[in-house]
Amino acid sequence: MSNPNAVDWTKPQQLKPPEPGPLYEKRKAVHPQRIDGTFRRFKWLVMLVTLGVYYITPWIRWDRGPYAPDQAVLIDLANRRFYMFNIEIWPHEFYFVAGMLIMAGIGLFLVTSAVGRAWCGYSCPQTVWTDVFQHIDRFVDGDRNARMRLDKAPWGPKKIARRSFKWMIYLIISFWTGGAWIMYFADAPTLTVDFWTGQAAGVAYATVAILTATTFILGGFLREQVCIYMCPWPRIQTAMLDEKSLIVTYKDWRGEKRGSLKKALKSPEEFGDCIDCNQCVAVCPTGVDIREGAQIGCITCALCIDACDRVMDEIGKPRGLIDYATMEDCEHEAAGGEPRPIAKTLFRPRTLIYFAIWGAIGAAMLFALGVRSHTELTVEQDRNPPFMLMSNGSVRNAYTVRLRNMESRPRDMEIAIKGLEGGTMWSDDIPQSEAARSLVREVAPDATRIVRLYVVAPQQTPSQSFTLTVTSQDEQQEQDSSEVRFEAPGEQS
Ligand code: SF4
Ligand code: SF4
Repeated sequence: MSNPNAVDWTKPQQLKPPEPGPLYEKRKAVHPQRIDGTFRRFKWLVMLVTLGVYYITPWIRWDRGPYAPDQAVLIDLANRRFYMFNIEIWPHEFYFVAGMLIMAGIGLFLVTSAVGRAWCGYSCPQTVWTDVFQHIDRFVDGDRNARMRLDKAPWGPKKIARRSFKWMIYLIISFWTGGAWIMYFADAPTLTVDFWTGQAAGVAYATVAILTATTFILGGFLREQVCIYMCPWPRIQTAMLDEKSLIVTYKDWRGEKRGSLKKALKSPEEFGDCIDCNQCVAVCPTGVDIREGAQIGCITCALCIDACDRVMDEIGKPRGLIDYATMEDCEHEAAGGEPRPIAKTLFRPRTLIYFAIWGAIGAAMLFALGVRSHTELTVEQDRNPPFMLMSNGSVRNAYTVRLRNMESRPRDMEIAIKGLEGGTMWSDDIPQSEAARSLVREVAPDATRIVRLYVVAPQQTPSQSFTLTVTSQDEQQEQDSSEVRFEAPGEQS
């Protein structure tokens, strides 16, 4: 029998244009319900660690001796240094910072490949601060239903008082967040005193104001909209996920057809395990219904897993109706296969390749840090004039030498000539009569000293290259050298 509703594709079709809708969908307020469970506890732990690291790190002291700051992590913009515990990065070593940024980027790829959007779900600042503010909502206004009621209630003294109190807490946390940020750029105790006595730099107040405002607005009000509409990372991650990536999945082959517990008990063969209780939606911090499939709003925080597992426990069904799984495993399970252990997704070629690259960069940086010299020499030759003839016929070249002492203590450094037979040198602070093959200069801790050098060679010395070396006069005897030109009358380079 033919279907009266079937489309006759042999005839031209009249396609109806879609009804014009609003350009932007109005935001539906998200009031996540309180939940406890394995993933919620893990989220608490990550929140504690990340916020702890952020707020406490600038206050950790680190003894580097009398000549260097004693703050463990410090971005010292004024002196152009980056301190991180025992590591001190100078501006000319910016490649270490670049290396760290590359490692952070590959680290994100690695995490995404191994455990999907775990960064979004647990440790992204937007997620962490939104979570903090959602707990403040709960603390001030009560759990989901009470908050929804208060939202709908007309504005009156009670609502105004509650909202003001809550926003005041938001503001204090936001201010504290902005305040913690500037502590990374100056000595934290000193800056705190300067800040509250009005003696800090204007940029410190401006930075705190901007970060207070952004934390207040992004964490307190925009929340999941940042993840869904503003952040590029979900789009990048979506492109990076494949059928072997872990995502939070609703196992529809097990849950459908969904129906209330009452209906399911009446005709169990007709219904799946989902009792349509909406608990998974109620706890979701981004308001997603995971039963509609993977979506960009799902930050894979797994709170819906906690909620659904609790429901499954209550109705006596196996846990895992919503679970972490790969698309490949879902197909396997839907076809009747046994669930596969999640751990195997961690050890697939793509993840291992990311890990190998990440590890190799890390090892290379550690090696470079381990073998780097704390003594450096750079030489710039005067070009105009390239040489001078002295009254006795000898030839003089002039150089600007930079001696870099990267230790946090003063050091004597010996500059010496290698090659250039008969050549001697002197500098601005000694007379030519004291010219010698080497001279020693003290360089202040963590500093660069500029020395003007005059190198003189006997008459008839041809143009040639020679080497200037610098050697620290301590037990390390660190050395650096630079090949330079000596110009003389005749052929010049
Ligand atoms: S919590 Fe579980 S049972 Fe309840 S609606 Fe969600 S998937 Fe269905
Ligand atoms: S759907 Fe589940 S995993 Fe995704 S954001 Fe909501 S609660 Fe978290």
